[in-house]
Amino acid sequence: MSPKKKLLIYYGIWIALGLTLLGLAIKIDSIFIIPLFGLMFVIGYLSMMIKCPNCGNKLMVRKSGLSGMPLGVRSWPPEKCPDCGKHIS
Ligand SMILES: [Zn+2]
Repeated sequence: MSPKKKLLIYYGIWIALGLTLLGLAIKIDSIFIIPLFGLMFVIGYLSMMIKCPNCGNKLMVRKSGLSGMPLGVRSWPPEKCPDCGKHIS
């Protein structure tokens, strides 16, 4: 599966489950906020683990060009892998 498809599925689950839990939290009990945070954590972790199919570079982590230190996280994978330059479909 391509990295973009994977991410779309993760985001789809996030939105569907997130809205369900949010609705439950508003209508029934605020306790449903807890699994909502759990869901955000899991989806965040899974999307950060998405790797380049060619070189295994973590695509969602934005790195500093000079030191290679992680600078932040992307919300969408880049068109090309920043490490090996392979086009990501
Ligand atoms: Zn790569």
